Amino acid sequence: MATPRKLVTTSGQTLLIGREIASRGQGTTFESLMLDTKQKVAVKLFKKQFNTDNTRRRIEYLVRHRFSERCPIIAGPFETIADGTHLGHSAPYAEGNSLDQLLQKGSVNPVQAIQLGVALTHTVRVMHDENIAHGDLHSENVLVEVASDDVLIPHLIDLDNFNAPGQPPPDMVGQNLYLAPEQRQAIAAGKPAVPDIYTDRFQLGILIHEAVLLKHPATGADHDEAAFHEAMCRGQWIHDPCNGGERYSALGGCPSGILGTELSRLFRRSLSLDRSSRPTASEWKEALQRALMRVFICLRCNGSFIGDAYSFCCPHCKMPFPKIVIVAPAGRAIAIERAAVPIGRDTLDGNPTVSAQHAIFRRRGPVTYVESRGRNGTYRWDGTSWVRLPERTLIAVKAGDRLRFGELDVHLREAV
Ligand SMILES: [Zn+2]
Repeated sequence: MATPRKLVTTSGQTLLIGREIASRGQGTTFESLMLDTKQKVAVKLFKKQFNTDNTRRRIEYLVRHRFSERCPIIAGPFETIADGTHLGHSAPYAEGNSLDQLLQKGSVNPVQAIQLGVALTHTVRVMHDENIAHGDLHSENVLVEVASDDVLIPHLIDLDNFNAPGQPPPDMVGQNLYLAPEQRQAIAAGKPAVPDIYTDRFQLGILIHEAVLLKHPATGADHDEAAFHEAMCRGQWIHDPCNGGERYSALGGCPSGILGTELSRLFRRSLSLDRSSRPTASEWKEALQRALMRVFICLRCNGSFIGDAYSFCCPHCKMPFPKIVIVAPAGRAIAIERAAVPIGRDTLDGNPTVSAQHAIFRRRGPVTYVESRGRNGTYRWDGTSWVRLPERTLIAVKAGDRLRFGELDVHLREAV
């Protein structure tokens, strides 16, 4: 079928059809222009075999939902094309290269990757809140725009494989590298492999894995199709740092030890065969936002990682993190080894100006913090005077610092 130069949507908008930008299983997408508004749009025209009443119903359903107006990074269709010959839709034109291309270049740093993950999980949540599964989450359906301050902005495209209650099921299965175990098993058994919210959650986990660790979760077990299928259907995360997964570090990307405890837990659940245990888009978003606040850079190897109370060395070069020791006047030393170490009158030689619970030292990756809680305050010597630390706020401290709890002076040194 020849590509028309102009098309009119069902709402009467005239579209000027431009160059082809993608051609996939169901149809071809063109860069186009809405003549009235001069808005640049992406027009998708379905192949003849998909020009059916069901496809039209599905397009009209997406257009009614107006996802692109509710979340600007979802490039969802907002106009239907159904002129008797052509069936398709127009959606906002998404700028950028595919996430797949970006990851192949390997030029994403951990902060950018986590920010990207936060935005991406947000878009998926917008769809899931409506009980609509995207149905084909993969790295070519995410276009990434680089903003002026180097922040990566994803655009979720191609919603055409969606699944929603009361709608005809999608015609396609989805991208093979991202199919959930139950979809793979259904295909192997010759049954329909219809996507849903739970298969979306599985695919979202793979996308986040690729963005943050720069590798697919089956990397290392993908030497042939059978091994890949087995790895994807195992229900276990083969890169799990608590289960020997660090040995895959040499296969490119980042070692899984950079993730920290919380994200590791989510990956374990996300690849599970127990569909209901897979993390929701909201759980991912919140965990990624917390991770963003805990990104550290190793001073020895320059590697980035997410540090928490359970990390004791750099996951890249294995250099142990410094361990702080509090030294009180009587020579008593308290090592900050656990995640949280409370300090009070009893632990500090019974000084009456020290409250029963005066401060809490907290370890997060390579950094130790003090949180003041005592009635008489906690102070730090700045070289010329004592400065009172704000209450119930984490303040980073280091070896060599002098602190004062009430009227009791201590100093911090590094453990030998
Ligand atoms: Zn290091």
